Amino acid sequence: MSSSALIVIDLQNDFCPGGRLAVEGGHEIVSLVNGLIKSSDHVILTQDWHPEGHSSFASSHDGREPFETVDMDYGPQTLWPDHCVQGTDGAEFHPDLIWDSAELVLRKGFRGAIDSYSAFFENDHKTPTGLGGYLKERGIKDLTLVGLATDYCVAYSALDAVKLGLKVAVRMDACRAIDLGGSLETMTGKMRDAGVVLK
Ligand SMILES: [Zn+2]
Repeated sequence: MSSSALIVIDLQNDFCPGGRLAVEGGHEIVSLVNGLIKSSDHVILTQDWHPEGHSSFASSHDGREPFETVDMDYGPQTLWPDHCVQGTDGAEFHPDLIWDSAELVLRKGFRGAIDSYSAFFENDHKTPTGLGGYLKERGIKDLTLVGLATDYCVAYSALDAVKLGLKVAVRMDACRAIDLGGSLETMTGKMRDAGVVLK
């Protein structure tokens, strides 16, 4: 069995132009990602999947605006516009994404009181999503990450994957960033320092 997998992070309507938390140019990566899916032995998708009124939504905090930061009991949390609500069109994958060959769709952020940027751990950095165990049991050791957004869910996933002892590459050309207050530069630096191969 091949030990490599492609992980497509959150390539969902709400993160693409026209969506509720649109990442600039998010839709531009779809055809490139489709090509990578075709040439990958194992494909895993993550899907941001929040209940209504999720604690990461600014609308859930009186007097708060999107993109402000609040202190949660697990640490600082950026507040976002409502997005990727379970069962809505915004939470669906981009309609042009061809993902039939995916072996796993991992949903995250489904617990109301805690967000999950990373595909591996929720934002307390200790509650596992189960993906680490899944990869281990299947003997998958090399990951290529693509998707949205470079400086949030892709970066946090890549950093956690390295911590779990996996070999990780990020295809930067198949990602797009939110870039909030210099976050792209910060997170790119953190990934490079951690040994993530940025392609
Ligand atoms: Zn989210």
